[in-house]
Amino acid sequence: MKDIVDAVVSGRTGARDIAALRLPGSYRAATLHKSEAGMFEGMATADKDPRKSIHLDEVPVPEVGPGEALVAVMASSINYNTVWSAIFEPVPTFAFLERYGRRGELARRHDLPYHVIGSDLAGVVLRTGPGVTRWQPGDDVVAHCLSVELESADGHGDTMLDPEQRIWGYETNFGGLAEIALVKSNQLMPKPGHLTWEEAAAPGLVNSTAYRQLVSRNGAAMKQGDNVLIWGASGGLGSYATQLVLSGGATPICVVSSEHKAAICRAMGAEAVIDRSAEGYRFWRDEHTQDPKEWKRFGARIRELTGGEDVDIVFEHPGRETFGASVYVTRKGGTVVTCASTSGYTHEYDNRYLWMSLKRIVGTHFANYRESWEANRLIAKGRIHPTLSRVHPLAQAGQAAYDVHRNLHHGKVGVLCLAPREGLGVRDEEMRARHLDAINRFRTDRSPAG
Ligand code: NAP
Repeated sequence: MKDIVDAVVSGRTGARDIAALRLPGSYRAATLHKSEAGMFEGMATADKDPRKSIHLDEVPVPEVGPGEALVAVMASSINYNTVWSAIFEPVPTFAFLERYGRRGELARRHDLPYHVIGSDLAGVVLRTGPGVTRWQPGDDVVAHCLSVELESADGHGDTMLDPEQRIWGYETNFGGLAEIALVKSNQLMPKPGHLTWEEAAAPGLVNSTAYRQLVSRNGAAMKQGDNVLIWGASGGLGSYATQLVLSGGATPICVVSSEHKAAICRAMGAEAVIDRSAEGYRFWRDEHTQDPKEWKRFGARIRELTGGEDVDIVFEHPGRETFGASVYVTRKGGTVVTCASTSGYTHEYDNRYLWMSLKRIVGTHFANYRESWEANRLIAKGRIHPTLSRVHPLAQAGQAAYDVHRNLHHGKVGVLCLAPREGLGVRDEEMRARHLDAINRFRTDRSPAG
C-alpha cells in the first residue's frame, strides 16, 4: 500500500505508473460485523453507539469485474447512512447484501460476514475491469453512490427508478470508508482539481441529494426568487441546500439549533436564520399530540424574516417532529420536498392545509447519474463549496459517526483513508487561490485551509 500512497502523494499517477504498481492482497476498512447485527437490540436509538459497532479490519481486495473500478481511497466522509448502518436501523444492512448477493455471480461477492461501509470517496483509479474505456489507472476521481444495473427499462429515463437501484457502501459492500473501494465505473466523476482529498470527498452524497431535492425537475424545481425553508441548514444536506438556494437566486430561511450554527449559515451568505432552540418551538405537546399554535408561531416568525411572505419550498428531512409544521407553513401551491425521516417515519399533518391550499408533497431520494454529475460540476466550478468540519483518521470512523449521530458536528465530517495528512491532492493551485476565501469561509470548525 505504501507504493500506492508514495506514487499518489508525489504525483506519479500516469496510467502506466499506477498500472505497474502491484495490488496489495488486503486493505484496511471500516466494517460492521454480521455476527453483531443484534448487539443494540432493545436499546433506544439515541443510546446505540457506532463506536462499538464500527471496526477497523484488514479485508481481502475484491476482484474487479466488468464495468467496475478499484479506487485507492485518499479520503472519505461520514454520511447519516453511516450512522443508520452502524446502529443497524431501520434494518441491518446485511439484509441488503444478502438480497443483492442472490442476483448472480458478480453480486455474490458483496454478501459477506462483514460490510465495508461508506458512500463517498476521493481518490485515484487503480484498476478498471473489462469494458471500461472512460477511466484509466491514475485518474483523480470522486464517486457518486448510485449503483444500478440498468437491465430494466424502468430506469432508462431516470436512473433512480431502476428496480435494482442501490446506494453504494450502504446497500452494497466495498464502500468508501476504506483504503480501497470497488465501484461501478459509471459512478466515477472527475475530482475537482482545486480541492484537497478530504474536501473533495465531503460533498458527494449530500450535495447530489440536495441538488435533486431542490433544483431538479424530479424534486422541487426551485426557481429564482423562491423562499426556501431549510431544516438543519448547517448540517450535511442543509449546508449544500443553503448554497444551492443562494447560488440559484432564491432566498434561504435557515433553521438550526444553536447560535454557532446560525453563524455558519450567515457565513455562507444566508440572512434569514431561525435558532429553533433559542426560540423554543415545541410542535408536539406530547408523543401523540401536535400543537397547531406552535406551527402558527413558526409561520409568523418566517413571515417576519421574509417581509410577510410564506415559503415556496420546504426542504424536509427531520420527518415526524417537523412535518406538520412544514406542511402548515408552505405557501398556497407550494411544495414540501422530503428525503428522510430522521426523527421518525410515521408523519402526521393536517391534510386540510394541504388540499385546500393546493400544496404538494414530493418524495425524493439521492440523485440520478445526470443529477450527480451536475451537482459535482457545480463543485468543480467553485459555485458550491465543501462544508467540511472535523477530519478524522480512518481508525476513528466510529467516533466520527458517533459525533454525527449525537448531532455534535457541523457540515460534513471527513475521514482520511490513504492520505497521510490533510491538505494534499490539490492539482489546480491557480483556481484554489481564486476561491481560497470562499473555501475557508465554508470550512467550519477548522483553521484556514492553505
Ligand atoms: P446531519 O448532518 O445530521 O444534519 C441534519 C440536521 O437536521 C441536524 O444537524 C439538525 O440540525 C437537524 N435536525 C435533526 N433532527 C431534527 C429535528 N428533530 N427537528 C429539527 N431539526 C432536526 O444529517 P444529513 O446528512 O443532513 O441527513 C439528514 C437526514 O437525511 C438523515 O436522516 C439522512 O439519512 C437523510 N438523507 C437522505 C438521503 C436520501 O437520499 N434519501 C440523502 C442524504 C441524507 P439543527 O440541530 O441545527 O437544527
